[in-house]
Amino acid sequence: NLKYVIIGGVAGGMSAATRLRRLDETAEIVVYERGPFVSFANCGLPFYLGGEITERADLIVKTAAQLQDRFNITIHPNHTVTKIMPATQQLTVTHDETATTVSYDKLILSTGATPIVPDLPGLTESDNIFTLRNIPDLDKIMAEIQSNASQHALVVGGGFIGLEVAEGLRHRGLQVTLVEQAPHVLPPLDEEMAAPLKTELENNGVHGITGQAVTAFDQAGHQATLADGTVLHPDFTIMAIGVRPASQLAKDAHLTLGWRDGIVVDEHYQTSDPNIYAIGDAILVTQQIDHQPALIALASPANRQGRQVADNLAGHPRRNRGSIGTAIVRVFDLTAAATGLNERDLQREHLPYQVVHTRTASHASYYPGSEPITLKLLFNPDTGKIYGAQGVGKIGVDKRLDILATAIKGQLTIADLPELELTYAPPYGAAKDPVNMLGYAALNLAEGLSHNIQWYDLPAELAAGKQLLDVRDADELADGRFKNAINIPLDQLRDRLSELNPHQAYIVSCFSGQRSYMAERILKQHGFAVENLDGAFALYAAVR
Ligand code: FAD
Repeated sequence: NLKYVIIGGVAGGMSAATRLRRLDETAEIVVYERGPFVSFANCGLPFYLGGEITERADLIVKTAAQLQDRFNITIHPNHTVTKIMPATQQLTVTHDETATTVSYDKLILSTGATPIVPDLPGLTESDNIFTLRNIPDLDKIMAEIQSNASQHALVVGGGFIGLEVAEGLRHRGLQVTLVEQAPHVLPPLDEEMAAPLKTELENNGVHGITGQAVTAFDQAGHQATLADGTVLHPDFTIMAIGVRPASQLAKDAHLTLGWRDGIVVDEHYQTSDPNIYAIGDAILVTQQIDHQPALIALASPANRQGRQVADNLAGHPRRNRGSIGTAIVRVFDLTAAATGLNERDLQREHLPYQVVHTRTASHASYYPGSEPITLKLLFNPDTGKIYGAQGVGKIGVDKRLDILATAIKGQLTIADLPELELTYAPPYGAAKDPVNMLGYAALNLAEGLSHNIQWYDLPAELAAGKQLLDVRDADELADGRFKNAINIPLDQLRDRLSELNPHQAYIVSCFSGQRSYMAERILKQHGFAVENLDGAFALYAAVR
């Protein structure tokens, strides 16, 4: 009987172990986990921190004993694998400072990722600077919060975990400052899509500082200095600036590593050693859209890979087709989500792309409770290939991004989006769902019915002599207006065409982009040179 050894007993590792057992009742399956818990809810940690999950025990999805009973897996928590010896198919395992040597027939690494801790003055000396990866980390932070001395928390990093942690700490009544080095929070999103999140943080009492790095801490960890010289005075700090693959063990065993030390595996998860496989946050995957190597530290790929590696080992060949990186976060009352490549990725890779934004109601606007959703689609205008999508709003964002992520995985094009027949009744959606609308808008661009410009190009386009024409109703201008725009409400446009200069190039805007598209169509058909400001005033005002 084969002996499978798995290093790491959480998302990927435990998926692999349990699937292996379901496929092979006779195998010996052994899991080594450095921490005290296996199969715990990493993703739930910020919500316990914030008090929404009230029972710590609920974070332990299955205990080692439960897993052993049900799956006949030998689980060793508090055991660290310190060395792999591929030549002899052996491992060194350390427990309570005692090292033992064990053997394996096939080894699966699901060692996860490690929070990045930069080499900053003062950082390692301080005992009130934390990271959040597991339950012991959480316990330390909770002890700090409950010591009652803590009033001001600093969160460094405005990615998914940083944002969730900042919200959680705020729910606990702390003063929270969040510092993000990138120009905006949630760097996987593009700037204009992430902009509402910073406002949401501020509206909920989180002081957000973007475009600034923390450069030093004092030894007590009570002073954090930013690049511009600002000094903050946190009682404690949570570092959430990202993760790197936990691949040291693999490196020491001379397994091939790639970009940023991700473990290189083939499409069956086999490493450079034929008896060693790897999955989860520690491996390099192929980004399915541009076929580039990528590190995608998310729970869904880790779980899928765990199952697939077990399938491969048990004789059910399964190919890793790659990942697209679909992620979502709640920031107080807003939800932001993204899938695939963002605009910066496309620019870096010089891929031909076009962008469209829509702002549509989460469900029929006449039915109570509907909220606007802003969606962004990035696509190839020639082939219709969907590169990526982003969304932000209060409700319904998860559903739309899941549809778009499915469309990408299924290799649908923009022409397929209007074809999607989605559930509709007024409380849930619209007869023209926001995803259908996004497809219509993208097709209008690809087929040349509409030409848009992006918010970041507006100042240069105006400087080059184009005229901004705002087609909102006059009473809407009180909510904010563009400098130097002329205003003709859409419903008066046909009657007031004579006020426009046929030799002047125009950019039309309204509030959301819908009326300005109609204005664009009217003007185009009367021979005017005209473009639509994509996302219109709502988007422009959010960024500027
Ligand atoms: P892990 O689940 O991290 O498991 C790796 C395990 O290996 C660790 O427990 C570690 O102790 C163990 N290990 C490492 N080295 C050794 C060794 N030498 N010996 C023994 N054991 C070892 N993803 C989402 O998609 N959505 C979310 O909302 C989300 N929220 C998150 C919130 C937080 C706070 C965190 C930390 C992560 C979150 N993630 C989320 C990411 C998700 O948890 C990971 O992508 C996923 O757990 C990766 O699975 P894995 O098996 O690769 O690693």
